[in-house]
Amino acid sequence: MSPTHDVIVIGLGGMGSAAAHHLSARGARVLGLEKFGPVHHRGSSHGGSRLTRQSYFEDPAYVPLLLRAYELYAEVERATGREIATLCGGVMVGRPASRTVAGSLRSALQWDLPHEMLDAKEIRRRFPTLAPHDDEVALYERRAGLVRPENLVAAHLQLATQQGAALHFDEPMVRWEPYRDGVRVHTAENTYTAGQLVICPGAWAPQLLTDLGVPFTIERHLMYWFQPRGGIRPFLPAHHPVYIWEDAAGVQVYGFPAIDGPDLGAKVAFFRKGTVCTPETIDRTVHDHEVAAMADRMSGCLPDLPGTFLKAATCMYSNTPDEHFVLARHPAHPDSVTVACGFSGHGFKFVPVVGEILADLALTGATAHPIGLFDPHRLVNAPA
Ligand SMILES: Cc1cc2nc3c(=O)[nH]c(=O)nc-3n(C[C@H](O)[C@H](O)[C@H](O)COP(=O)(O)OP(=O)(O)OC[C@H]3O[C@@H](n4cnc5c(N)ncnc54)[C@H](O)[C@@H]3O)c2cc1C
Repeated sequence: MSPTHDVIVIGLGGMGSAAAHHLSARGARVLGLEKFGPVHHRGSSHGGSRLTRQSYFEDPAYVPLLLRAYELYAEVERATGREIATLCGGVMVGRPASRTVAGSLRSALQWDLPHEMLDAKEIRRRFPTLAPHDDEVALYERRAGLVRPENLVAAHLQLATQQGAALHFDEPMVRWEPYRDGVRVHTAENTYTAGQLVICPGAWAPQLLTDLGVPFTIERHLMYWFQPRGGIRPFLPAHHPVYIWEDAAGVQVYGFPAIDGPDLGAKVAFFRKGTVCTPETIDRTVHDHEVAAMADRMSGCLPDLPGTFLKAATCMYSNTPDEHFVLARHPAHPDSVTVACGFSGHGFKFVPVVGEILADLALTGATAHPIGLFDPHRLVNAPA
């Protein structure tokens, strides 16, 4: 009997929805299986906004992928009419030697990306809501901005469906096994077969990829919305950049302009100050001391922002030990399984290009995109 599908995609969050789109656009018979409903808030791809930037402090190796991701934001926007990216400009703020500033500058110089270096006085002049210390500087990138996670996931699901993909929601994979030249996937209701399996598990990676050998750490993170003191006008995207701000202790906060109208304030979050959790046991309650800690930090850099606390929401990071992604053929099943996981709190901006890479790997076994940094072999048996 021939397999029921060419490719089965597990998880239709950020990465899986993009894979389903790119695979079905190339004519593959795709089945997508998702544990929850479409565009849900229980994983990692929700909360209204995700920062995007090209002068990537984490490593210059990400830059070519970002250049392609930006092209694909525009393609998806054209194909669906949904608002995907708002390039309002961004500042990476800190002391000159901080990772945020020095790392961003390194990528900008290596890839000849348009950027400007601003001293504290110039930061205050251009962006009066920002209050840097005299010894802080910023790399300004006019092509930085934000991506709308719910819109992008919904757009990819829409395109995949239009291209003939079968997307099954509320139908989690229970297990899979090698079968003939491909795989067999079991859910509570059904069994499916396919030549290729693409696993995009987000925070469920420790459960779904036990044989990968990568020590993932799942973390609970919070996003906070505040109504600025003195009104929203200076925080509108026409005047206000996205920002990542590293303090003297190396702790980064990042935030967005006010993109959702006069009543919904502006969003801020800590980058990497989460608590270890699992998707089953994550504490979804937001505690007063957490709000107070964020308000306190913001009062030192955007003093008008923490006027009134509006709301906060939880979200999960899936960290690898070196905070670089895992994006490859599965080392134990190199002929039939592809994995995309361990996005370590900075994956969303790459969603469309990851979809393209997953389609390359599943359909041809290779990709022209530079993904050497994301090889899981580097992490097998690494301490968590
Ligand atoms: C607070 C916060 C802020 C962030 N900020 C940024 C940012 O500014 N910029 C940026 O680039 N990135 C950011 N990120 C990171 C980014 O959002 C993630 O890297 C990205 O969303 C991960 O996508 P994913 O597809 O791996 O996970 P998800 O979108 O969570 O998808 C995984 C899917 O797998 C499904 N699933 C699990 N088990 C099964 C199963 N057995 N069967 C079927 N389906 C299953 C889940 O239900 C889920 O839908 C942030 C993340 C958080 C939490």
